[in-house]
Amino acid sequence: MATYDYIIVGGGSSGCVLANRLSENPAHNVLLIESGRRDADPWIHIPATFFKVLGKGIDIHPYASNPDKGLNGRPSIVPQGNVLGGGSSVNAMIYVRGHRNDYDTWLQMGCQGWSYEDVLPAFRSLENNERLNGQFHGRKGSLSVSDPRHRHPLSEAFVKAATEIGIPHNDDFNGADQAGVGFYQSTTYGGRRWSSAQAFLREAEKRSNLTVLTERRVARILFEGLTAIGVELLDGTIFKASREIALTAGAIATPKILQLSGIGEGAHLSSLGIKVVADLPGVGANYQDHLEVPVQGETREPISILGHDKGLRAVGHMLRYLTSHRGLLASNVVECGGFVDTAGTGQPDVQFHVLPVLIGFVDREPEPGHGLSIGPCYLRPRSRGWIRLKSSNPTEQTDFNANLLSDPADIETLVRGVETAIRILDAPALAKLVKRRVLPRPGVEKDPEALRDYIRQSAKTVFHPAGTARMGRADDRMAVVGPDLKVRGIEGLRVCDASVMPTLVSGNTNAPTMMIAARGAAFMTGKTISG
Ligand SMILES: Cc1cc2nc3c(=O)[nH]c(=O)nc-3n(C[C@H](O)[C@H](O)[C@H](O)COP(=O)(O)OP(=O)(O)OC[C@H]3O[C@@H](n4cnc5c(N)ncnc54)[C@H](O)[C@@H]3O)c2cc1C
Repeated sequence: MATYDYIIVGGGSSGCVLANRLSENPAHNVLLIESGRRDADPWIHIPATFFKVLGKGIDIHPYASNPDKGLNGRPSIVPQGNVLGGGSSVNAMIYVRGHRNDYDTWLQMGCQGWSYEDVLPAFRSLENNERLNGQFHGRKGSLSVSDPRHRHPLSEAFVKAATEIGIPHNDDFNGADQAGVGFYQSTTYGGRRWSSAQAFLREAEKRSNLTVLTERRVARILFEGLTAIGVELLDGTIFKASREIALTAGAIATPKILQLSGIGEGAHLSSLGIKVVADLPGVGANYQDHLEVPVQGETREPISILGHDKGLRAVGHMLRYLTSHRGLLASNVVECGGFVDTAGTGQPDVQFHVLPVLIGFVDREPEPGHGLSIGPCYLRPRSRGWIRLKSSNPTEQTDFNANLLSDPADIETLVRGVETAIRILDAPALAKLVKRRVLPRPGVEKDPEALRDYIRQSAKTVFHPAGTARMGRADDRMAVVGPDLKVRGIEGLRVCDASVMPTLVSGNTNAPTMMIAARGAAFMTGKTISG
């Protein structure tokens, strides 16, 4: 039975950061176990083709919640990366850290040492920003962050139209002020995706003290008393850990593994015949996700990217990309957007993701024709769901109650987001290009009931599940990990992924998750991060 100093469960955004930082010391033997394949599909690495990767469905796991009342009985389908690099290998590459108040709120919730000032050095230590530097940005990290190499005319028009209705322009959403519209920076390098695997694993895999296993799934953690001592894979293989185990399987898989291992609500686990190691009722609770609603306009001319992945046009784009790493294929497609304070609280509560094409989703066809899609998304949901085992069988799906839009405040934020997006669509820079609004159907916005029904019927995930093993104080009954990311009451086990977020950050979750992992690695090795 092989023994390692550290075992990392899940080779996604956070797992690859940990693999890198823990293997920096040649004296440490590190094992990373990932359920998906290696990230060998070439479409992963070309920014604009991430839609192909999602469409193929091989490198993702399509989690689906139970039918959700808040979504008019639809399930929330939440594809997650199932490949080396995890979400960072299949995502839209937007580089956003959230609002400084997010982290200050975590501190107020009892997460000592997680204020904005505390986490900023970790963000900076990871980052290699091609344009920005100084107080907020890093240049020495392995995570390449770049400005867009391609700006679609519809993206340009969105940014201009938004400023026409009075939203300020912002060219750094991760700087002094998050508010405003503009082009997103992305985790790309030289026109290629810069996933966590690319940034942190490629370098670390050259070290002889790091072992990476792919296509192997962890079923549970093994304990001796209250100390985690190893992991058992689905095929029965056991690996032992002499120092620590880090769970980085993502916010949907991590609470499942914890519960299968005997960590969760005691009475529930006992009822399934699972021996209780730690009675932590917060495991699987506090599920949160960002939802967006489509606001779409059909353009007068065929100027969107529809059809550009086919025939001679596709060949042209590929030739340009192969010769210069520029052009449409170097685009992350969701090139622009921004953050707007729709409630007048002084802090943005809605984010826009904008695509120069009419998009559908896994459960619906796109509207026909050329156009653009604006996705207003709430930033700080109040609704909370939960993920609980149905049985002790690791291959069985969980009881996944997303419970989205159960808090009326979330619907009202989306109402304001949709209304703002419609105003942007109607502003001169876009009105010039847009023939008619297709979604929501004209008139729906004037009928409060119809608009709320449209939101329930069309809201979809922005792929940011979080919060299911949340961090908190030792006396907080629902906290699963402490501010040092150690599972409460257990030795040798930490959670270092998006599960630990007490509340979702106000923005995309890839960079914040990597920050959490970098801090987790520092806690494990006793190092201080200097940003
Ligand atoms: C389609 C999509 C678009 C997104 N767009 C953006 C964006 O533009 N910007 C942004 O900031 N964020 C984006 N995100 C979100 C971001 O990528 C995630 O928040 C982030 O990747 C989460 O990191 P994680 O380490 O918690 O989990 P993941 O990166 O999901 O990693 C978990 C890993 O664990 C593996 N795993 C699961 N179960 C097991 C098991 N039992 N045994 C072994 N391995 C296991 C999985 O295969 C996976 O590789 C997007 C996500 C998706 C899916």
